Amino acid sequence: MKVSMVNNFIKEKVSLKDKNSLRIESIARFYAEPRDVDELMEAIYFADKRGIKVLFLGGGSNILFPDSNLDALVVSFSQFRNFMLTYDGVITDAGVKLPFLLKKLSDKGFGGLEFTVGIPATIGGAVRMNLGSMGKEIFDFVQEIFVIEEGIFKRIKKEDIKYGYRKGYTKGIIISVYLKLERMDKIEIKRRIKKVLYKKRKVQPLNMPSAGCVFKNPKIGVSAGRLLDEAGLKGYTVGGAMFSTLHANFIVNKGNATSRDIKELINIGIERVYKKFRVILERELLYAEEILK
Ligand SMILES: Cc1cc2nc3c(=O)[nH]c(=O)nc-3n(C[C@H](O)[C@H](O)[C@H](O)COP(=O)(O)OP(=O)(O)OC[C@H]3O[C@@H](n4cnc5c(N)ncnc54)[C@H](O)[C@@H]3O)c2cc1C
Repeated sequence: MKVSMVNNFIKEKVSLKDKNSLRIESIARFYAEPRDVDELMEAIYFADKRGIKVLFLGGGSNILFPDSNLDALVVSFSQFRNFMLTYDGVITDAGVKLPFLLKKLSDKGFGGLEFTVGIPATIGGAVRMNLGSMGKEIFDFVQEIFVIEEGIFKRIKKEDIKYGYRKGYTKGIIISVYLKLERMDKIEIKRRIKKVLYKKRKVQPLNMPSAGCVFKNPKIGVSAGRLLDEAGLKGYTVGGAMFSTLHANFIVNKGNATSRDIKELINIGIERVYKKFRVILERELLYAEEILK
């Protein structure tokens, strides 16, 4: 597809297929990869002026894009990728990918984020979602975040953020994040990373396109994965999308899944679990159309 440039960093009609972990083919009306806050503001101004909605994109590992065109400006944080080690942790740009950060931190003897191994998210997306796994969450480490709220640059302390289970900071644009970490022996950190990865590989389909868990765990103390499994949904398929045979709360793309296939599977999951257990599953996966509202 021919991509036309609006200016030196905003493009028109850009495929998002390699920018979302479910590998859904969707075309963004406009797409920008600003290199700094000035360009970020310029992109927002560009959209505002034309009445176009903006979607901020991290690793695209928790967003379901539509099969059709996405009538929006997608602003990727992929160029916000600097980080700085401090005496007790790291200050990192929102677009830094967790696997990269984990490697850099373990090389320097900073531990704590081992639970994130195998997750293709950015730190910005992780703070937005309060990413968590294995009994830990990113807000265990967040000290402060640097954001833009209604055009104003702010520094917000963790105590002033109402975060919770899979809900982090949602009010504005995350620019950078200060994480407090633990000084640890490098070999010990690497041993922990290996252990976590080993555990995850046994129960999660990390070798297939997915967006991690599709549903939040309900408050009843049984995981969504277990409910879906007991509702007979492991391996259940619609088109190219399937509830993983390894972990029923992961929907995987078998190669040619559409957004429609995935939405249909999600509805079937909600229906079957409700019918069998009278439990209403709440989605963790975000639909792009909903983010834009
Ligand atoms: C293999 C795999 C395993 C996973 N395992 C886990 C897990 O164990 N635990 C877990 O919690 N999640 C998991 N996930 C889901 C996903 O990685 C998390 O939800 C993650 O927090 C999403 O981060 P992202 O950078 O990909 O954000 P995106 O999917 O790009 O965006 C998610 C939301 O954050 C917003 N956003 C992104 N960047 C910014 C920013 N800078 N400022 C403001 N808003 C922003 C987006 O607009 C969107 O609303 C997994 C996903 C995969 C593919």
